[in-house]
Amino acid sequence: MNRAVCPGSFDPITNGHLDIIERASRFFDEIVVAVGINVSKHRLFEPEERVDMIREATEGIPNISVETFQGLIVEFCTARGIKAIVKGLRAVSDFDYELQMGQMNRSLAAVDTLFMPADPHYSFLSSSLVKEVATYGGDVSGLVPEPVLRRLHERLDK
Ligand code: ADP
Repeated sequence: MNRAVCPGSFDPITNGHLDIIERASRFFDEIVVAVGINVSKHRLFEPEERVDMIREATEGIPNISVETFQGLIVEFCTARGIKAIVKGLRAVSDFDYELQMGQMNRSLAAVDTLFMPADPHYSFLSSSLVKEVATYGGDVSGLVPEPVLRRLHERLDK
């Protein structure tokens, strides 16, 4: 089976992530969305909540699975026999870092990174900006899937 991993923090998943996952799912038998658990970063949502939101948002796509990972993404891939990582590129600013990371991952293990251009509608979109805008009462509907919008309201309307 031809599988690829879409890794990220997904705190929370946005329509930009969802677009990349959905497009990638057309090229592979299965896409494994890997939710990174990095204790050092400040997070709004717990890993389980992030996983739940991704599962709900991708309900309509049959060949998606969602898991958490800790440590190196190449170890996650190697343990599952997965040889490809798919990443979205929003701008040249993403490219520098992603290229470096892709090359590092390839030197660590036989795992290649495939880049997809972000949909221009979402090229300004990041999880951190969504959180910031939502915190100050801005309207983020249209930028995140419905399960995320609902949880953001539950979390922030207190
Ligand atoms: P990280 O913790 O690596 O920043 P994110 O969850 O923010 O993780 O994003 C994971 C990956 O999703 C990024 O590396 C990038 O490839 C992609 N991505 C993020 N936002 C967008 C977007 N708006 N459009 C397309 N791809 C995106």
